[in-house]
Amino acid sequence: MTTQQAHTRQTTPPEAQPVLSVEALRTSFRVDGAWKPVVRDISFTIAPAETVAIVGESGSGKSVTSLSIMRLLQPDTSRIEGRVMLGGRDLLSLPEPEMRKVRGNDVAMIFQEPMTSLNPLFTIGDQISEAILCHTAMSKADARAETVRILEKVRIPSAASRFDEYPHRFSGGMRQRVMIAMALATKPKLLIADEPTTALDVTIQGQILDLIRMLQDEEGTSVLFITHDMGVVAEIADRTVVMYRGEQVETGRTTDIFHRGQHPYTRALLSAVP
Ligand code: ADP
Ligand code: MG
Repeated sequence: MTTQQAHTRQTTPPEAQPVLSVEALRTSFRVDGAWKPVVRDISFTIAPAETVAIVGESGSGKSVTSLSIMRLLQPDTSRIEGRVMLGGRDLLSLPEPEMRKVRGNDVAMIFQEPMTSLNPLFTIGDQISEAILCHTAMSKADARAETVRILEKVRIPSAASRFDEYPHRFSGGMRQRVMIAMALATKPKLLIADEPTTALDVTIQGQILDLIRMLQDEEGTSVLFITHDMGVVAEIADRTVVMYRGEQVETGRTTDIFHRGQHPYTRALLSAVP
């Protein structure tokens, strides 16, 4: 991939009020009675409709960073410090019931294995229409019609007839589409996608990236996109945070990172891009 191909979509200038602001995030785990820092001094912002990538090798602390932002780590064995500002509030100091509302309304999450986010006991259609009913004053019939419209939008073939199917009947790529449909239904301010395409074939990977871009263009959603793959970063991210061994070693516009990335680890990542 050449640097000319790097993603150059027009977005809100960075001086606009950020949707998310992560300040000096530090996460430690209690291991054998001692606190061990795993993520140290991570700071970045995401502007409206902007995509920021966190890139780094396996074990560099990407998932711990996203789980810390959403406070999804085991509270008795983890300690999260710093500030995570979203909508004028510091998520790290919100009471848990408020935090649950943030997870339900303001932020959508997609993980590598979408089965962890879909309830196996409910049909795909019911899960999406439930999300619509929670966010709008629509009737049940209208929510069903809207669900089919969204499933068609994420290009699930024969969407109407798949409404009543359970998640296990969908392939990995189809489940990620369902997760994006879910995000379209709830219209979150922020989508956090942690390696959503890693387990997928390259062609399906491209289709999922297209859908995330569509979500962004149509809804103005901001995206935090986590990946170990610099090729994916070039395709999707306006700005990029490079993580190495729990630290943020480089941050900047994706094009600048590709042209002028300085840190030896960034250079190593770039040299692996075909
Ligand atoms: P990445 O997503 O970049 O592959 P992770 O964020 O999952 O990396 O992990 C970063 C580091 O934190 C790894 O060394 C991992 O073993 C460690 N880690 C993750 N979760 C826990 C936990 N619950 N307790 C202790 N260590 C953890
Ligand atoms: Mg991870």
